Amino acid sequence: MCGKESSLVVSEICYEFPGFGSVYLLSAVCRNCGFKHTDVMEVNPHQDPLRITVVVEGPDDVNHLVVRSSYATIKMPELGVTITPGPYAQGVISTIEGFLHRAKEIVEFLASNELDEEQMMKCSETLDKLTAAIEGRLKFTFIIEDPSGLSTVVPKCGSATKIIREPLRVEG
Ligand SMILES: [Zn+2]
Repeated sequence: MCGKESSLVVSEICYEFPGFGSVYLLSAVCRNCGFKHTDVMEVNPHQDPLRITVVVEGPDDVNHLVVRSSYATIKMPELGVTITPGPYAQGVISTIEGFLHRAKEIVEFLASNELDEEQMMKCSETLDKLTAAIEGRLKFTFIIEDPSGLSTVVPKCGSATKIIREPLRVEG
């Protein structure tokens, strides 16, 4: 970002999940301007556009580990939540619960601004749903759509949750 190449520190880690496979973590930090970029991806991915759907039916189902590359969009249609990757999107590893908490923080931030009555109602409705989902009181689907195919879901050991992997049709 600042053009001073010698100040960029790049770290790479390969992390193995027993019985599943490996996940690659990349982090780059500039000691000069503070620019930071992180990304994660499955090692040996298919690299075809991929959609992964997790059917969350109980409190235990939010504990699956989600590896979201910087290209992936996350959708939780029943909760009215879509997280799209911006131009400086970072890859992240988190449980589904982690993404629910993050979505909640964002909606709470939006609700702290001046909104009209309709927007306010929509925010509080979404917050109620997110809280219910975190507490395992709401069934919903958690979808990752990744045109790069680098994202993955590492199922929690011994779980019988329905996780569907299918090709993603990229529009345009
Ligand atoms: Zn820099």
